[in-house]
Order: sequence, then structure tokens, then C-alpha cells
Amino acid sequence: MAIVVQKYGGTSVGDVNRMKRVADRVARTHRAGNQTVVVVSAMGDTTDELVGMAEKISDLPPGRELDMLLTAGERISMALLAMALHALEIPAKSFTGSQAGIITDGSHGRARIVDITPGRISGALDEGNVVIVAGFQGVSHDTKDVTTLGRGGSDTTAVALAAALGADVCEIYTDVDGVYTADPRIVPDARKLDRLTFEEMLEMAAQGARVLQVRSVEFGRNHGVPIHVRSSFSYQEGTWVVPEEDIMENAIISGVAHDTDDAKVTVQHVPDKPGVAADVFTALGEANVNIDMIVQNVSEDGTTDISFTMPHADVHRTRELLEGLAREVGARGVAIDDQVAKVSLVGAGMKTHPGIAAAMFKALSDAGVNIEMISTSTIRVSVVVAATDAERAVRAIHDAFDLSATPVEVS
Ligand code: ADP
Ligand code: ASP
Ligand code: MG
Repeated sequence: MAIVVQKYGGTSVGDVNRMKRVADRVARTHRAGNQTVVVVSAMGDTTDELVGMAEKISDLPPGRELDMLLTAGERISMALLAMALHALEIPAKSFTGSQAGIITDGSHGRARIVDITPGRISGALDEGNVVIVAGFQGVSHDTKDVTTLGRGGSDTTAVALAAALGADVCEIYTDVDGVYTADPRIVPDARKLDRLTFEEMLEMAAQGARVLQVRSVEFGRNHGVPIHVRSSFSYQEGTWVVPEEDIMENAIISGVAHDTDDAKVTVQHVPDKPGVAADVFTALGEANVNIDMIVQNVSEDGTTDISFTMPHADVHRTRELLEGLAREVGARGVAIDDQVAKVSLVGAGMKTHPGIAAAMFKALSDAGVNIEMISTSTIRVSVVVAATDAERAVRAIHDAFDLSATPVEVS
């Protein structure tokens, strides 16, 4: 008997009728003889609405209580879907992340899964149930408090469970029919990819293609779980994310991703001497802030500006720390610009094809987009631009590399 894990995102379970449609789809999978585990997100914009309520009550809600609140969204979905399956005479049982054995560390709002003990899930499957698990949540191994896995975390619940159960496939049902060469909402002629490698998907996800949460792709890669991203509104094949050895030919470019969740921080006029960067980034690391791009400019008076990007969401809680740090290292001050976006071109073929970065910068210049920062990896080129330029930049790059057309392949 095959084990299938399916994950349905917020739009797919957005109202009661959609929930019933999902139940029909799950019922088919169950009736076809599969052991079926379903991970659900909160309905529609529930998570945003819950965050909005918390923010109206407090500027900085305690992480523990925020997680308690947000996990409720997924619990609503899991119980309703179980009821919808019962109405179709399919035995089904729902479980919270904690009941499902999803054990995490204690970082509220961004917890990492450290272990999965899926005994109750296996038991319920063996009794012939469809098992429904609330996405995006777990329980801390030391405090025993409920945690959440970060926005988009239901993808990670699904792939991690698929890994723990040895599932044959993890299907991610969403509101687009697969992974595209760019966000299809911004580039209407973006092309759906049939397949891409974990490495390429990891890079696309890390650079903001929010169709899969980054950590879900890491789980897939580390445990060899094939991921099939597809639409919950059709029966068409979607996009398969698979190991490199399963792809005969690689496209040079996979796609363009963009991310508006980062802010650019500049520590201004820092004395140009050894140890300053170490001090700044050690303090940020200790505050659990993920730094992305870093650029240092030398000015004429023997001082430097250190600029870096970090998540918007962390700016508020680290502003005082940054200002304190600036004073300590003798800098003039700190400037924070949250109206920026990161636009990235991703492709495994870049390793062997020179000139990709140059062509990307030319496309941006032709579109009149100013580049504020640049960073690269072996399979990516990223730039920071003004937020107002982001969509234009994505379209210009997509056009310049002709990504709507069937790709030129390299072996
Ligand atoms: P869900 O609620 O199902 O988890 P998300 O909103 O998290 O859905 O992710 C799906 C969305 O990701 C799509 O609606 C699309 O706008 C966006 N997206 C961004 N980049 C891409 C891409 N390269 N391919 C497909 N979708 C993308
Ligand atoms: N409901 C959560 C969110 O909106 C988790 C998810 O949908 O994956 O981020
Ligand atoms: Mg999502």
C-alpha cells in the first residue's frame, strides 16, 4: 500500500465549499487504496487576520501566546476536513502538530523540527483512517509549549511527515498549477516547469518564490522525498521537485524570484579597523537574526558604511540593539530602509555559462532600474532594488532571458 501525504494551502481550504472539494479529492486517494495523510493550512487569510488582531492588542506580543493563537487557524481546518470526510463515510481523524509527534526547538514563530514521533499517525492509518494533521505547528521538546514553524510552514509539516513515514510522494496542493519561471501573478507569461532539482527549488524558495517554504525543500532533499507541487483546482500534473540524478538535462536558468520581506540596514561611518564587522554580526547572530547580503563601502575619511539585509519582521525587535551597537563601535548611526526588494535569477547552468550576471544587469539598466546591492552564489545572482521597481525588474529579467520560451538545455 502506498503512503501519500497531501498538503492543502489556505486558498484551497478557503471556505466550506472548497473544504468539501478537498474532502472529495482526499476520498478518491483513500478509495484508490492509499494510506493517506493530509496536512492542512488555516482557511484563507485566517493567519493574517489572527496576526492583525494580536498587533492591535500589543506592539510586541509574547511569542508563546502568538503561537498559541496562530495554531488555532490550522486546528479549525483539520476538524472541518475530518467532518467533511465523515460526511462522505470515510473514517478520518485529525491531530494537532503536537499530537502528531512534531517535536521542535523552542524558537516561537520560527521553530525548527528536531524530531518526529509519528506513532499516533501510523496507528490511525493502520486502523484505516485518513489522518489529518494541522500544518505549521509542533511542540517544543524542552518547554512543552506549542510552537509555529514560520509563515508557509505547513509545507514543511507535510514534507517532514512524508520523510518520517517513508511516504512515496508528498503532494503540495496550492492555488497555481506548479512552480513557474517567475511568480505567475507578476509575469503572466511565466512558464510552468515540469521538473526541477532540489538545489534549484531550494534557491528559488530561499529567494522568495513562496510556493514552497525553504525548509520543506531541505527536508525533501535530505530525505529523498519526491515533491509534487500542483493545483487543488485541477487534475493536471504539476511540477516535480526531484534529485539531480533524476534529471537528464538541466536548463541554464530555472527562473526569477523576488522577495519583499527584507529591509536594508546601513551602519554609517564605522571606523575602518579590524574587528568591527565581527562585533556587529556576532551581536546580530546572538539575537538570532538571519543576515543575507553584506556590502562594505570604504569612504574617504577612513570610515566605512556596512550595509546588509535582514528580515523586516526582525527590524522592530532589533532596532535598539542596532543603535546600541552603532554607538559602541563608534559609528555615526543606523539607517533602515524597508522599501527594498531582492530580485534573483536562479539556474544550475550558471556554473558553466559566463556572462549571465552581465546580461541581467544590462536588462535592469535598460529598464531604468537602479541596483543597490549585489550578491551571487554558484547558481544565483541577486540584486537589491527599490521596492517600487521590483515587479518591473522581475519582468525585465524574465524577458531578457526569454524564459517564457522552452529552454535551451545543457547536459
Ligand atoms: P498556499 O496557501 O497554497 O501555501 P502560497 O501563497 O504560500 O500558497 O504559495 C503559492 C503562491 O506562490 C502562488 O499563488 C504564487 O503567487 C506564488 N509564487 C511566487 N513565485 C512563484 C513561482 N515561481 N511559481 C509558482 N508560484 C509562485
Ligand atoms: N497558515 C500559515 C501561514 O499562513 C502556514 C501555512 O499556510 O503554511 O503562513
Ligand atoms: Mg504556502
